[in-house]
Amino acid sequence: MDEKIKNPAPARAAVEEAGKVALKDLDVQGITALVVSLAEKPFRARQIAEWLFQHNVSSFEQMTNLPKAFRDKLRQHALIDTLSPAYEQRSQTDGTRKFLFRLRDGLKIESVLMFDEERVTLCISTQVGCALDCRFCATGLMGLQRHLTPGEIIDQVLLSERIAGVRITNLVVMGMGEPLHNYDNLMQALSVLTSPQGFALSKKRVVVSTSGLVAKIERLIAEGRKYRLAISLNATTDAMRSKLMPVNQRWPISELLAAARNYADASKTRITIEYVLLDGMNDTPEDARRLMKLVTGLRCKVNLIPYNTTYREFARPAEERILRFYREMKNCPVPVTIRWSKGRDIDAACGQLITKEQGT
Ligand code: SF4
Repeated sequence: MDEKIKNPAPARAAVEEAGKVALKDLDVQGITALVVSLAEKPFRARQIAEWLFQHNVSSFEQMTNLPKAFRDKLRQHALIDTLSPAYEQRSQTDGTRKFLFRLRDGLKIESVLMFDEERVTLCISTQVGCALDCRFCATGLMGLQRHLTPGEIIDQVLLSERIAGVRITNLVVMGMGEPLHNYDNLMQALSVLTSPQGFALSKKRVVVSTSGLVAKIERLIAEGRKYRLAISLNATTDAMRSKLMPVNQRWPISELLAAARNYADASKTRITIEYVLLDGMNDTPEDARRLMKLVTGLRCKVNLIPYNTTYREFARPAEERILRFYREMKNCPVPVTIRWSKGRDIDAACGQLITKEQGT
């Protein structure tokens, strides 16, 4: 098989099985190269992409405008889905659905589907495990097992739609893993998901959340990306943030917020500052006042997220502490909202279901 097709990009390790290439791991040039190597005309690549991303088919038989002989050849050389459903939890209170997907090497990842008025939002994973080791996060405990390929990122969207029978309108890249640590594969996947010839989601409806990889935020700026950016801040002093999130030792709060400011200016988008409220750690009135100061002058909104579970030394603050923090920010010049978590009756926070399954 053509070497270019086997390895569409050196860092991207396309999922292959018995010599088959995963179509969704390829970019347009990759699919075109495959088509040409199978002695077909290049325009077939566009037809294949339409079947994959617009019609969300699961078999080559469904690609009815391709000649049968070509479909047979494709079946021998390529595969469509990179994931399969392994388990599902559904919230009885708000309809949130959590999917556990099995990758072709047997590892598992999570995606969460949430319903909110007219929006259907999917939270997707970008890695199996995570290297960032945020102390309050169950995924961090797993360590990094591997990056997801572009196809595995895209398939969370396509399979969730197929299973739930809904059209996903919004995407948050906030599940397992640090999205910007898997930069190239994520950017390839998002290009397909937001391309008019691909899944055709508006870039404004895609939020990429980072724990604070400043060098990668600068790369987003340099490349002119327009996705919405969320910064997982979670503390108002470097001492506390370094304790909660080791990444802060490399890029402290001032550098992170300067990068956020530059991104907001360059992309002309509004940043989301995520602040997980942890009982007794970062939820005092002084924290609220410091947070207000930090976000003043930044084009952003603040989401206060009461911690969703009890884990290690971390717990959810009592409701009156949450409301006190919120009230303390009443004069904040940017919008502040409390995001009461979805799916509290299921293991909806990232990594909870897998770590429970693995008994960690
Ligand atoms: S919070 Fe996000 S970045 Fe931090 S360890 Fe968990 S998955 Fe990784």
